[in-house]
Amino acid sequence: MARRLQETDVVIVGLGAVGGLATLPLVEAGLQVVGLEAGTWLSRHDFVPDEIRNNTRDWPMLVQKAYLERPTSRATAAQNANRVGGHPMMNAVGGTTWHYWAQAWRLNPWDFRVVSETTRRYGASRIPAGSTVEDWPFGYEELEPYYDRVERETGVSGQAGNVQGTIDPRGNPFEGPRRREFPMPPLRGTAFLEHMAESARSLGWKPFPGPASINSEAYDGRPGCVYHGFCNMGGCHVDAKSGPHVTTIPKALATGRLTVVTRAHATTIEVDGEGRVAGVNYLIGSNEYFQPARAVLIAGYTYENSRILLTSTSPAYPIGLSNNHGQVGRHYFSHHQAGGVGALFPFDLKSWYGLPAQGVAVDDFADDNFDHSDLNFIGGGNLWVMSDRRPISAAGVGSYGRISRNWGSEWKAFIRDNADRTSSSYIQKTTLPYETNFLDLDPAATDSLGMPVIRITGQFKENEVAIANYVMDRMEEWYGEAGAIEVTRGGAGMGAMGPSTHAYGGTRMGDNPETNVVDRWGFSHEAPNLGVLGASVMGTSGARNPTLTAQALAWRTAQHLAESWSSIVG
Ligand SMILES: Cc1cc2nc3c(=O)[nH]c(=O)nc-3n(C[C@H](O)[C@H](O)[C@H](O)COP(=O)(O)OP(=O)(O)OC[C@H]3O[C@@H](n4cnc5c(N)ncnc54)[C@H](O)[C@@H]3O)c2cc1C
Ligand code: SF4
Repeated sequence: MARRLQETDVVIVGLGAVGGLATLPLVEAGLQVVGLEAGTWLSRHDFVPDEIRNNTRDWPMLVQKAYLERPTSRATAAQNANRVGGHPMMNAVGGTTWHYWAQAWRLNPWDFRVVSETTRRYGASRIPAGSTVEDWPFGYEELEPYYDRVERETGVSGQAGNVQGTIDPRGNPFEGPRRREFPMPPLRGTAFLEHMAESARSLGWKPFPGPASINSEAYDGRPGCVYHGFCNMGGCHVDAKSGPHVTTIPKALATGRLTVVTRAHATTIEVDGEGRVAGVNYLIGSNEYFQPARAVLIAGYTYENSRILLTSTSPAYPIGLSNNHGQVGRHYFSHHQAGGVGALFPFDLKSWYGLPAQGVAVDDFADDNFDHSDLNFIGGGNLWVMSDRRPISAAGVGSYGRISRNWGSEWKAFIRDNADRTSSSYIQKTTLPYETNFLDLDPAATDSLGMPVIRITGQFKENEVAIANYVMDRMEEWYGEAGAIEVTRGGAGMGAMGPSTHAYGGTRMGDNPETNVVDRWGFSHEAPNLGVLGASVMGTSGARNPTLTAQALAWRTAQHLAESWSSIVG
């Protein structure tokens, strides 16, 4: 029998990138908030620069709950799903922002209007067959103030390319207008990154340093990055990385209105007789609790957001909370991260000190920034070259076909000479939602509590594969211009999507309750005091990482809850 706790105003399930951020606007509005977090507090002392622990043994990802509820995956509904080997996300106060790369992109205006802009420029027939993509219920302009607030509140460094319509060639000329500069200048460059930028310019492209949720200088009581080279899968040992555990959560706690409950595994959400949300059931070890609340915000990442809704059944919601229209789990997609391009250079790149968010980007082939009239796809990719290298990964780069076997003295000599001469690009590409890609509960596989895990049914389609091939060509061109002596490219495959660190949909946002789970503010179309935070509400991905957009949306949802309190909670 669960112990019933004292009612609070708002419960947030999950204190990661979005839930941890949403605490602040709620408590600043005077609301009492309980944050249920399955993980524990960590500190910068938990992340020594240790490549074996963090990268080889995947310590950040092999913690507690996330690993135990690894989804199953299949490409199509006709196949059996298999349990995947790992779950990329993290359980802790601060969530995956502990070990993420911290690239902090805004979406471009096109990403909000994919259907209408594609139709206007090329005709409706260019929307790929079977895609369920919709325009967002609002445009970039609506989200811009929230992007700005989150950038200031958490601390983002970068070079603006468009301030109130004035283009600055040092930044991204394709970005939507921002009201002001970034709070901090971009992370510093390196000689190799500047060389890559120069090569892009000689191709007629417009390179720029990418934005990062990392202090490039002291900001808000935290120091600047020291470029120590263990950022990729490591937490920051000086707190220069701007996760909510060092930004919004401490500020929210200082108000006295936020209670953080760690090791609290939320299992189901209860509703009252009218179908309104009444509170959250959770476990700490084998102890059961019920936390009553006037509003609930779920923020457990894309897979958990759908799972907790689908497992919360009741007479009002027999196939899952907020699922009477059968939309929970639909419109799922993830970034197509196959199709990388690597290069070998005839000179040292001097990238032992660096981090994956320190790089040079090219947006010329992203979104609709180029003419697609004669192409067989819509969307595109953002090309990214970074400065990131550690000893063990450097030893695993492969020999670019230059030697016959990857072991022995010949291989050792190759690695000794070339360990700092390789570069691998990172290309984020548009992925669209399709009718046949979705999340549901696996009928057989369970977590340690015996609850079903999420089953991912997903496959990249022709549009995504065509983008991958196109942007890999551009990346090869760029490395070639920069003097690479060998270039390799990955396959653009159409296998099962599998789980992703950039997973979208399942609780899509939109005005139409027949095709969306939450409304334009992030609240359920069916249970009005239930909100959803995270990329699970996003209907398009653009060609850039999701977190800053998910955080801007989370701030907006939380602020809306505070401002419309009486109409939402009744
Ligand atoms: C290696 C790596 C690199 C990345 N790099 C970038 C990048 O450069 N830029 C970018 O934009 N994105 C990046 N991402 C993605 C980014 O981490 C996610 O977009 C972001 O963390 C998602 O935020 P979230 O709050 O939805 O989930 P998380 O940050 O994962 O937080 C979810 C929280 O909910 C908790 N939780 C889950 N279920 C429950 C439950 N039932 N009860 C209680 N608590 C629960 C979890 O413990 C966790 O703390 C990266 C991810 C990884 C793994
Ligand atoms: S590279 Fe910078 S942000 Fe990353 S962990 Fe090191 S000091 Fe922190």
